[in-house]
Amino acid sequence: MNYEQLENLVSTYGSPLYIYDYATLVERSNQMKRFKDRIENALKTVKINMHYSSKANGNPAILKMVKETGLKVDSMSPLELNIAQKCGFTKDQILYVCNNIDSEEMRLVHENDILICLDSISQVEMWGKMYPNTNIMVRINPGTKGVGHSDKVITSGKVTKFGIGENNITKLINATKKYNLNIIGVHQHLGSLFLDDTVDDYIAGVKSGIELIRKYFENIKIVDLGGGFGVPYKPHEKALNLDTVADRLTEVLKEFIASYPSVEEFNFEPGRFIPCEAGMLLGKVTAIKNENNVWWIGTDIGMNDLVRPSMYDAYHEIEIISANPSSEIIHANICGNICESADVLGKDRNIPKPNIGDIVLVKNAGAYGYSMASNYTGRLRPAEVMIYPDHEKLIRKRETIEYIESNIIWD
Ligand code: PLP
Repeated sequence: MNYEQLENLVSTYGSPLYIYDYATLVERSNQMKRFKDRIENALKTVKINMHYSSKANGNPAILKMVKETGLKVDSMSPLELNIAQKCGFTKDQILYVCNNIDSEEMRLVHENDILICLDSISQVEMWGKMYPNTNIMVRINPGTKGVGHSDKVITSGKVTKFGIGENNITKLINATKKYNLNIIGVHQHLGSLFLDDTVDDYIAGVKSGIELIRKYFENIKIVDLGGGFGVPYKPHEKALNLDTVADRLTEVLKEFIASYPSVEEFNFEPGRFIPCEAGMLLGKVTAIKNENNVWWIGTDIGMNDLVRPSMYDAYHEIEIISANPSSEIIHANICGNICESADVLGKDRNIPKPNIGDIVLVKNAGAYGYSMASNYTGRLRPAEVMIYPDHEKLIRKRETIEYIESNIIWD
């Protein structure tokens, strides 16, 4: 898109603005479907379920597209569950993967007859007291080093709040016996983002998880291997070769099925892979300054709009699109409009010297972008627009001060 087209979008829908390319979303979703078919065809006797992890981007336009491709969904909160149901996912197409929820939330999941995945003995006890004689899934911690673009998203190993480790599995099984709970599935998620160079860590985690299943659990029907399928953010990174991942998994799972015949289904939970590259965050240059020989490019894209750079030190490619591009290249930090020193979108970038009003384009912002946005320092969350091949459509309004204030009790 050129400057006029981008400028048109931000002046119509406000700045900052999330835009999503529908064709890319469909392609990524189809890639996941092909991944599923490849494993299913190779294994023959088991079913593969792909549950889109809606935490990555829960906009209904994306959920509906995912459903049309034949994928199922993971929900992690009452709102995510409600939206999934409104998008037409039926109870057998939803898995509730949760962490440290209260009894009220458990009641909601039970009332909706949704399969729950519990991730500690104390949560299993809480569920068992309320709903004895029911089916559950449990989340284990396979204990390997896991995968992830930051320590903050690694969910396997010795220091993580997720899952039940090997030391506690016998206690877990005893707890389920007390309430006559039937563990029909075992779940693990190793962390978020592996690419070809870290796929060995993912496979090691899968092997370790299924070893624990073989050793401790009887008659498991569903084995859930989580998400983590990565996308390239940095210019030198390459796209994940899904065929290779599928073939390596097939080898491991074939061997497992041969020695563990009760297993009927394997689940995967891709989040980021589907919306990430389809999404861009647009904003505007609002200030330019040089202090102590450092250029600072101020924009209206704050850490409240996209928290990944300040929360994880994550890298996003940033382009500045100008009506009058300069030939002078400067070395600059690109930052937002929030009163926090961490509010820096991109550090040490070589860019053509921008002008006030130029368009800022942050790439790969479709996953964990809007879904992690907030109202910090009273900023309004942006609108979201879907770019279809022949038209664009507003799929979430920009928040207004009135909308936020309507929830405040004033006296
Ligand atoms: N499943 C679970 C339990 C998760 O916590 C997450 C995200 O962290 C995902 C799936 C999706 O992960 P990703 O977006 O890396 O595919």
